[in-house]
Amino acid sequence: MIKMAFFDTKPYDKVCFDNLKESYDTKIKYFESKLNADSAVMCKGFDGVIAFVNDTIDKETIDILTELNVRLVALRCAGFNNVDLKYAKGKLDIVRVPNYSPYAVAEHAMGMFLCLNRKIHRAYIRTKDLNFSLNGMTGFDLHGKTIGVVGTGKIGQVFINICKGFGLNIIAYDVYPTLKDVEYTDIDTLCKKSDIISLHCPLTKETKHLICKETIEKMKDNVYIINTSRGALINSDDLVEGLKSGKIGGAALDVYEEESEIFFEDKSGEIVNDDTLRILLTMPNVILTSHQAFLTNEALEKIADITLSNVYNYFKMNKLTNSVN
Ligand code: NAD
Repeated sequence: MIKMAFFDTKPYDKVCFDNLKESYDTKIKYFESKLNADSAVMCKGFDGVIAFVNDTIDKETIDILTELNVRLVALRCAGFNNVDLKYAKGKLDIVRVPNYSPYAVAEHAMGMFLCLNRKIHRAYIRTKDLNFSLNGMTGFDLHGKTIGVVGTGKIGQVFINICKGFGLNIIAYDVYPTLKDVEYTDIDTLCKKSDIISLHCPLTKETKHLICKETIEKMKDNVYIINTSRGALINSDDLVEGLKSGKIGGAALDVYEEESEIFFEDKSGEIVNDDTLRILLTMPNVILTSHQAFLTNEALEKIADITLSNVYNYFKMNKLTNSVN
């Protein structure tokens, strides 16, 4: 049997992986801790690891894993910005789940934006307190507004189709423009023309802080920003300044630059030592979800199935599937 160490385990992960593991001849040991240079020693005796978005697979972690004869890191996610790919080359194979449910993420992006624009998050709390006033609850029609989509891959495309249903004008920016029925522009024009901007590109050296003071200055007044991609696409301090000045009308964020030690955990009894996050959370025009855009039954089932088939192919069929290096 293949022996895999599973990091950053949550109860909803276990259900799907437990259902399938035997059919892939795999034994899984679940660890609640994240994978990093401190916890990597726990991989002794395992063939490979199953890791998630906030595990840190840096040089130090890679060295420990290779010393322990771990050969495969199977990411149970699409993004791989948390892996030092250059350093891993020739030492560890890295596989991922490139496509599990673009619908889950795109639907969450639009859901968060609708909630923010029509103040549903505030109305929910108000009416629970028998406050039926509509003061401060005005939103705007989506019909006829312009939305700028950054990244028109799998999720971006589903998101664009959803936007079409609302009668939004769509413009897009992508380093590889592939869609025939969408108007592509450069990032500056997208910033200047969009009433709403939604990010669907990966986090790379080029896209880090794509949304920053300089790009925000170019945007329309009262622009709305949606980020379901990766937190570091936005410079959070510049976002706060844009929101404070009123330049940015609202932000719907499923990801946050410094989320790795905070998201997915219950911190309700603690003092969270992140002032930028605290400021964002006090703002009525910011909605923050805890990297949950992927979290649907369909996505979880597919994530487990593809991850385990990547593992099985690697160890039993000598075949590298969905490799990122
Ligand atoms: P994808 O690879 O299908 O599409 C990414 C697109 O971004 C591609 O078209 C690519 O050409 C484009 N791109 C790459 N570099 C770019 C750049 N510098 N500027 C503009 N565009 C660029 O990926 P996907 O499946 O659509 O996922 C997009 C991102 O969503 C992932 O990278 C991941 O970070 C994020 N994601 C988030 C969640 C969540 O739960 N919040 C879940 C899954 C994926």
